Amino acid sequence: MSRIAFIGLGNMGAPMARNLLKAGHELVVFDLVPAAVQALAEAGARAGASATESVRGADVVVTMLPASRHVESLYLGEPALLDHIAENTLVLECSTIAPDSARKVAHAASERGIRMVDAPVSGGTAGAVAGTLTFIVGGEAEHLEAARPYLEKMGKNIFHAGAAGAGQVAKICNNMLLGILMAGTSEALALGAANGLDPKVLSDIIAKSSGRNWATELYNPWPGVMDDVPASKGYAGGFGVDLMLKDLGLAAEAALTTKASTPLGELARNLYSLHSAGGHGGLDFSSILKLYRKGEG
Ligand code: NAD
Repeated sequence: MSRIAFIGLGNMGAPMARNLLKAGHELVVFDLVPAAVQALAEAGARAGASATESVRGADVVVTMLPASRHVESLYLGEPALLDHIAENTLVLECSTIAPDSARKVAHAASERGIRMVDAPVSGGTAGAVAGTLTFIVGGEAEHLEAARPYLEKMGKNIFHAGAAGAGQVAKICNNMLLGILMAGTSEALALGAANGLDPKVLSDIIAKSSGRNWATELYNPWPGVMDDVPASKGYAGGFGVDLMLKDLGLAAEAALTTKASTPLGELARNLYSLHSAGGHGGLDFSSILKLYRKGEG
């Protein structure tokens, strides 16, 4: 069994760390929020005093942070975590960040002889809890093979997208589509409800018709239609509006750099931006439905 330092114990990181613990690994965990560290310590992990202290003696380091700036400042800032990670350590950077940030950090890691892959995930908090995430990996194939036994404890599908940063490119494309389809699903359900349909009945119909998608099958945005999804828990937990907005911003940046056209992605980014400006940035992204419901936006 390995010694794993796990940094970033939010909605995704905490259940992922728990699955590594359940698999019998020795975990040292750290987060800026003490309560998040405490919860994992109660589950059997050792509470790290700081990020740099956590990685001491680790065979593997996993990070699950909000955005590029957090990842760059953790690994390359002052102090630079990379300066505290031993040569040859395997680093799995699982946050969704800009491909350029992922390449920058991976390059700095490789200069120090540290084996790093970008391994963003898909599957939501339910997938993180169930250990059924999809990992989309960028980096060297042999590093992915070294990472595979750990990724398999947290996920079910593991893809090699290409070189460093490629995992992030694939993840950004997926999330742009997710943002669009959640807004589209909300729009359709709100239209049906405004025209007298029961959203549950309409959802059942769409789930078996050509408009079906991940939202109608697993993550319905209408409160009460599905149990155990953020919409039925006041849009708490899950994948925050501001995190979706960040990913749509990453898609927009990637489109600008390559002159690709992403009109629907841009429209979705503006919808989530308006929704966030309305004070909903901390809610789950399926709350975009509120924009379409009279008197809720
Ligand atoms: P979150 O905001 O719930 O958790 C992030 C955690 O990182 C917080 O607990 C925060 O305190 C901690 N943190 C930030 N800076 C830190 C630092 N320097 N040192 C230690 N801890 C630090 O976010 P999340 O929902 O867990 O998402 C994490 C990443 O996974 C994001 O990049 C997100 O886009 C991606 N993602 C999320 C989901 C989802 O459904 N929530 C799904 C797939 C991918």
